[in-house]
Amino acid sequence: MGSTLRSAVEGGRVAHAYLLSGPRGVGKTTTARLLAMALNCPDRTDGEPCGVCASCEPIWAGKSTMDVVEMDGASNRGVDDARDLRERAMYAATREDRYRVFILDEAHMLTTEAWNALLKLIEEPPPRLILAFATTEPQKIEQTASPIISRCQTFEFRRVADADIRERLRQILEREGVEAERQALRTIAAQADGGVRDALSLTDQVLSFSGDSLTSRDVDRILGLVPEERYLELLELMAARDRAGVFEYAKGLLDDGLDPAQFLRGLGEALRAAMVLKLAPRSDLAAVRDDLRDRFQVAADAASPADWMRRMAAASDFDASGVLGRTARPRIHLEVLLLRLVSMESTVSLEEVLSALGAPRMEGHDPPEPGPVERSAAKTAAAAVPPPAAKPAPEPELDRGRVTFEQVSPEATLKKLDPRFAAAKAILDLEFRD
Ligand SMILES: [Zn+2]
Repeated sequence: MGSTLRSAVEGGRVAHAYLLSGPRGVGKTTTARLLAMALNCPDRTDGEPCGVCASCEPIWAGKSTMDVVEMDGASNRGVDDARDLRERAMYAATREDRYRVFILDEAHMLTTEAWNALLKLIEEPPPRLILAFATTEPQKIEQTASPIISRCQTFEFRRVADADIRERLRQILEREGVEAERQALRTIAAQADGGVRDALSLTDQVLSFSGDSLTSRDVDRILGLVPEERYLELLELMAARDRAGVFEYAKGLLDDGLDPAQFLRGLGEALRAAMVLKLAPRSDLAAVRDDLRDRFQVAADAASPADWMRRMAAASDFDASGVLGRTARPRIHLEVLLLRLVSMESTVSLEEVLSALGAPRMEGHDPPEPGPVERSAAKTAAAAVPPPAAKPAPEPELDRGRVTFEQVSPEATLKKLDPRFAAAKAILDLEFRD
């Protein structure tokens, strides 16, 4: 529980209504529960609940009690539900020194009428009543019930950084006497994508099979992930442009029962790692295993950043097409993708791109309107300053006969990329301009 809430509990200065907002799995409901526990725990120390007493335990488990009620806004969203809640909230707590706490999850699902029914309760709350609204979409509440928001004390929750999740898992596991490999924690943190709750439940999932140790191997196997070595092998095939090796590689994946869709998700990460290593050798941001780092670096150095970007775009297009989820013959589709990735030719020049887009050729007369590539290059020159609202140029007609750049403008390709590549974008724009 945050220090603000802790000292509010300790000093008896709790608000009547809280709005807890943030992405899923980052601790909104947990915080509301901890607040309810702390307010009612007879063994509280420094504003922290004991967590194990008869009052704390059911609240922690999410069970509604006479005093602490958890509700889901999605299934209690109407005005009748709100009136019902209002009536129940008027009852005093079971004991004079206790608080009643209503925790309403997914609060953005409530209708405007429901909020109106709750407004009076929030404006003139009975003593020792706390309302905690948890939501992933506070802007919706702002739209339907802005007077409510202004009467709530607001806490914004953010995704937790990978390193913090790893550290928290490490501490928890150490306390439990579980030995954990660094790589295992890294994989779990990456899978949890900023959600502590997801990280904990993935860890539980692995431990329920593996017992009292957490190895990278077990994590990959139990979560159905493709081991990092596999991706490295593929990057090495790309580095060597070894087309023949693709068939053996795809066979190996399928023989081992690895899920092609899962493979594709990890592929994006592996290509990203290659890109990062190419742009910033030995960078920690590449998130590759320490013992494989040197081999990853060698493979990454074998192609240009633009090539890695095109491979990333090809893999992401393939992923977006969803074909692997629909096909009865994933092997063929997988092989086609892998062959494309392995045999991609090196970067095309700007001239070729322009000609593929049907823009006038550079020599001779000037183009009347800048093409997408030039616009993108100009943007780089303007650095982070957003461009003025330019008059949109008419889309140049594609000259089908001469298309060599996969009929995708670099701009469109870049847009598809993860925002993490903002820095790479600038460098790539330069590369395209050369
Ligand atoms: Zn307690």
